[in-house]
Amino acid sequence: MADSHPAIITPEVWEAVQLEEKRRKEFMKAHRIKAFSSNIGENPFASKVICGECGEAFGRKKWRPRPGEYRSVWQCNARYREKGVMGCANRHIDESTLEQVFIKSWNALMENKDACIKKWKQLQKGKNPLQAYRAEKLLEYADKEVLRFDAEQMHVTLECIVIYETGKISVRYLDGTVIEM
Ligand SMILES: [Zn+2]
Repeated sequence: MADSHPAIITPEVWEAVQLEEKRRKEFMKAHRIKAFSSNIGENPFASKVICGECGEAFGRKKWRPRPGEYRSVWQCNARYREKGVMGCANRHIDESTLEQVFIKSWNALMENKDACIKKWKQLQKGKNPLQAYRAEKLLEYADKEVLRFDAEQMHVTLECIVIYETGKISVRYLDGTVIEM
C-alpha cells in the first residue's frame, strides 16, 4: 500500500521548512554570508549581526585585553576584506552588549504586549505556515518572564540586529517587527 507509511511531517510543516530555506538563502545572498550558522550553544549571534553601513554580516573576534582574559567582539566582515586595506569602518560591538540589546528590545516589545499578542494570534491563524510558526514561538515567550539572555529564544524570534556607525541599532524580529534603539 502506497499510504502505509505514516506521514512524518504535515504539509504545513513541509511548507514552513521550504519558506525558511528560501528566507535564509535570500538573507545570505543579501549579506554575503557563505554558510548560515545556527550554533545556539557556541555562537548564538552567528549570521545574526548585520552592518547597517555596507550590508555585510558581522563576525566574531576574540580580543585579549590582558593575558588570560577574553572579550568577544563583533565587527563588520568587510573591515579587512583586502589585505592591508581598511574596508568598512563601522564600529565594533561587544558580545555582552549584543545580549543586552536583545533583552532590551524584547522588553520594549513587551511594553506593548497586548498589541503584540493580538498581532501574533492573527498571524498564527493566517495562511503562511512559517509566519504561523513564528507567531506561536513569540506567543510562548510573551507568556514567560524573560530576565536573562536566552539564546534559544533569540534563535526562534530574531531575524537580525543591524549596527550603524551613528550608534543606532535596529532589532529585526522574524515576524517583521522592528525595534529601533
Ligand atoms: Zn560594514
